[in-house]
Amino acid sequence: MADCLFCEIIGKTKQARIMHETEDIVAFHDLNPQAPVHILIIPKKHISKLAQAKSEDVELLGKVQYAAMEIAKNLDLSDFRLVMNNGRKAGQTVDHLHYHLLSGRRLLWPPG
Ligand code: 5GP
Ligand code: ZN
Repeated sequence: MADCLFCEIIGKTKQARIMHETEDIVAFHDLNPQAPVHILIIPKKHISKLAQAKSEDVELLGKVQYAAMEIAKNLDLSDFRLVMNNGRKAGQTVDHLHYHLLSGRRLLWPPG
């Protein structure tokens, strides 16, 4: 997708600290980390937000969550949070579906 920051990271035309990649998924360190571990996990397919996902994307969505689990396991994280913001008022600033994997500090609940 043109003019999509995360599609540029997927296409390697924009630099990012990629730490996990499969045929369908890329994970990279957030530029502005909110915790000692802050990794973004995204599908390579451009889906602007979860509300735009189709039934054909169900397997892909499962793969994203499974990748988060594998990354957490590889980093030896026993406690972590997986967050997804859908829409501006929920905090979404980049219009390419992404999940935040946060860990390394005590995480408050409920989030703001
Ligand atoms: P959102 O607010 O949409 O849920 O999350 C977007 C996230 O992307 C933010 O945590 C922000 O710091 C991160 N981000 C924005 N631009 C870039 C970038 O160019 N590179 C990386 N690695 N992260 C980015
Ligand atoms: Zn995109």
